Amino acid sequence: MPEAMVATRDAKPADATAQQVDVAVVGAGFAGLYLLHRLRKAGFSAVALDEAGDVGGTWYWNRYPGARCDILTVDYSYTFDPELETAWTWSEKYATQPEILRYLGFVADRYDLRRDIRFHTRVKEARWDEASERWLLTTDNGAPVSCRHYIMATGCLSTPKPPEIDGVKDFKGEVYFTGRWPHDGVDLKGKRVAVIGTGSSAIQSIPLIAEQATHLTVFQRTPNFALPAHNGPVPADRASLLQADRAAYREQARWSLAGVPLPQQTVVSWQLSEAERRARFEDAWSKGDLVHMLTQLWADQGVDVDGNRLVCDLFREKIAATVKDPDIAAALMPDDHPFGAKRPCLDTNYYATYNRPNVTLVNLRQEPIKAITSGGITTARRSVDLDVIVFATGFDAMTGAIRAIHPITGRGGRSLSDVWAQGPQSYLGLTVEGFPNLFMITGPGSPSVLSNMAVSIEQHVDWVVDRLAGLRAAGFTTMEPTETAQAGWGRHMADCAGLTLHRLANTWYTGANVPGKAQGVMPYTGGVGPYRSICDEVVTRGLLGFRLKGPNGAEQCNDGEVVRLQPDVRLVLNLLASLNLPPIESMGAAGARAFVGEFNKGRPAGRPIGEIVDGTLPGADGPLSYRLYRPATPGPHPIVVYFHGGGWVLGDEQSDEPFCRDMVRRTGMIFVSVNYRHAPEHRFPAAAEDGHAATRWIADHAAELGGTPSPVLVAGWSAGGNIAAVTCQLARDRGGPAIAGQLLVCPVTDCNFDRPSYTENATGYFLTRSLMDWFWDLYCSPADRTDPRVSPLRGKVSGLPPAFIVTCEFDPLRDEGIAYAEALAAAGVPVEQLKARGQFHSSYTMVDVVITGVPGRVQMAQALRRFAGLPPDIARSDERGQVQANPGHRIEAAAS
Ligand code: NAP
Repeated sequence: MPEAMVATRDAKPADATAQQVDVAVVGAGFAGLYLLHRLRKAGFSAVALDEAGDVGGTWYWNRYPGARCDILTVDYSYTFDPELETAWTWSEKYATQPEILRYLGFVADRYDLRRDIRFHTRVKEARWDEASERWLLTTDNGAPVSCRHYIMATGCLSTPKPPEIDGVKDFKGEVYFTGRWPHDGVDLKGKRVAVIGTGSSAIQSIPLIAEQATHLTVFQRTPNFALPAHNGPVPADRASLLQADRAAYREQARWSLAGVPLPQQTVVSWQLSEAERRARFEDAWSKGDLVHMLTQLWADQGVDVDGNRLVCDLFREKIAATVKDPDIAAALMPDDHPFGAKRPCLDTNYYATYNRPNVTLVNLRQEPIKAITSGGITTARRSVDLDVIVFATGFDAMTGAIRAIHPITGRGGRSLSDVWAQGPQSYLGLTVEGFPNLFMITGPGSPSVLSNMAVSIEQHVDWVVDRLAGLRAAGFTTMEPTETAQAGWGRHMADCAGLTLHRLANTWYTGANVPGKAQGVMPYTGGVGPYRSICDEVVTRGLLGFRLKGPNGAEQCNDGEVVRLQPDVRLVLNLLASLNLPPIESMGAAGARAFVGEFNKGRPAGRPIGEIVDGTLPGADGPLSYRLYRPATPGPHPIVVYFHGGGWVLGDEQSDEPFCRDMVRRTGMIFVSVNYRHAPEHRFPAAAEDGHAATRWIADHAAELGGTPSPVLVAGWSAGGNIAAVTCQLARDRGGPAIAGQLLVCPVTDCNFDRPSYTENATGYFLTRSLMDWFWDLYCSPADRTDPRVSPLRGKVSGLPPAFIVTCEFDPLRDEGIAYAEALAAAGVPVEQLKARGQFHSSYTMVDVVITGVPGRVQMAQALRRFAGLPPDIARSDERGQVQANPGHRIEAAAS
């Protein structure tokens, strides 16, 4: 149904004097311009409103000396029109603010956009009118606007933060804000200048201000990481890639993590030698590319404190090598946040500027500003006389421009400020429950500032305009997310943020730079490509999580949460799905073993530990190989007998190596992984009997293995969890060995497939119902399946060692694991459960791949240590020191 027809149904316009449009847009920067173009092409009437005197958005306002793009400008461009791409050529690798502003003016001219923009016009208020289903905007210049849809293209960093320092009004000299720099420039020659702040704006402008000013004093609260831009022509490698296949280059950017066509790193820091790491860092340093430095060194640089610390150390070396005065160098070295957790900067001569005689660095951590006076700035230790103060103090980021500039009142009179009082809530960072037909381009909750904004803007604009066209075609008039969808998105956002190191820094990403602002990671940290696929999935699943309404009570709502998996689990499962693998059960046992062997070759081997020793031990019916994993700490250590997963059919003593290594590091205990006999060659009860026999032998030989005297502990994953559970029952019934505790990770505990988890998770989560069927068939005849040696849930469960039982939400085995935990608890066995939300059957053993498994493994390790009578935590620093003290362990040398 055409929008015009919908509009005629309105009883009367909300305000007869208002400008009537289908869509109103706030902002005429990168996002607003493309929106106008797309809306027009889609047949919507639209107006954009902007306080500025011309197009450009952030590039209109930020005219301070040195203002440049800090992402390669060939990447920071529109890609929607191939002709536009070839009609404009950037002169530099990092274009200046004037050149970018010219580009945006060129785009506005080319598509004749200015005729629909009202400049010098600020929206004072926006109110949803339920009766007409339209937004009514009042402005400070000209007619109000009545629109069906209201789109915020306000940018993420457009509302400067107030100075928050007493006395600014008393200062008799000149005061400037980098974010509102005078259009006719500022002459700083012969002047004593202060710059407050050392973020991106300051770091770009300080070297140029120092060249002009008589003296420059920089007031630094937090030192920041800065990388030299090495500006010049567009790098030849990128230019030739672009020219070779422009469409493929752009497409790669769209599906990348940061919106720049760079691959995802897979090698983790500890797989590289120090020399290799240094070489990678030097290469990144010489490239002068922030996104490269942020993503291409090693895979754990942004998710692991240790992997990140290596980068920080290398940065600090560079600062020390550039800044001649060691005290100034030390003051410039960031030490309170991981690299990348606060927005790093791109500079030209920044650190070298501090070697100039006319530049002074004031470290506000040691001497905070007491006041700004009429003549300058007074700190706890000095008074600095000044002619000019430049505030490079940043922005009320992400929410400021949406929330602070004007009241937005949604359905039922709800104010967006109130709804966001505890931090921004949104669905997809695009929409807010209670605010129908309100859209945010690169809003909080979307990748926005953690991405190449040009790519994220185009994705959002396309998504929104396509939805508006879809609504119109289907005859709906309003679109609004549901509470369920929004709450789910909030959880997914938190899951993603938990993977990163952003939580370890106070930054504008988290709202920490604005006193009193609610704190929390505001941008979506899951990456541009994954985010795009989620937005697409919302559409393919019938606009999942949106309620659409139309005339005569027409309504459509497919409610639900778009991502319930942990973010890394989602990536792993999507990757597996894309491989289109044949079902494992179709491969035969030998084929399946070969497949799993190949699959395991591609995974990270696991972090260094003290020692790995292979041996054999007597099983129930012949020798079994084992692999012993020893911590780097001095022994003797408690021993955990470990049984690997693989449905009694697959795997061996090495197949869960990353898990064993990780648990050894976390527990400080020895893990002995036993290669029990497998089906179909050795059917039930071979594996169970081997489990018990091996545990008894290990307990009897604990001292020889470097262990503390018994009791031992047992642990296992999947079918290995089954064997561990059965071993505890057999040990209780057969006079030993004494077992101090059992860790059962996603264990098989029963032969019954009727529990809901078997239906809900029958397919799609790697371990399928049909695969479990196959495993059972190979291992155990139907007549034996209720035997407690394979279905321990059916055995006597009292008198067992304390248990820690892990179950995963998206695992067919979930409910039988829970049932076992409940049965043990009912029988008086001390039991702790970890019911892992969003995880799948393999989450915890995919160490260094499923990073969200870390907290769960920490809990498992703590439980094992408690069972062994040790304090729950092992100090990480001890662990590192001890690894260094034992560098020569056998297998490690080969592995790293
Ligand atoms: P910013 O990164 O937030 O930096 C503000 C600086 O001012 C920080 O050093 C901050 O210290 C300091 N500061 C704030 N309030 C202060 C106070 N009351 N007293 C003393 N110091 C204070 O702001 P920005 O430099 O304008 O950059 C914001 C973002 O805009 C960047 O991170 C980047 O994303 C974007 N940007 C991009 C470009 C580009 O593409 N070329 C250029 C400029 C900006 P604390 O760190 O201690 O809070």
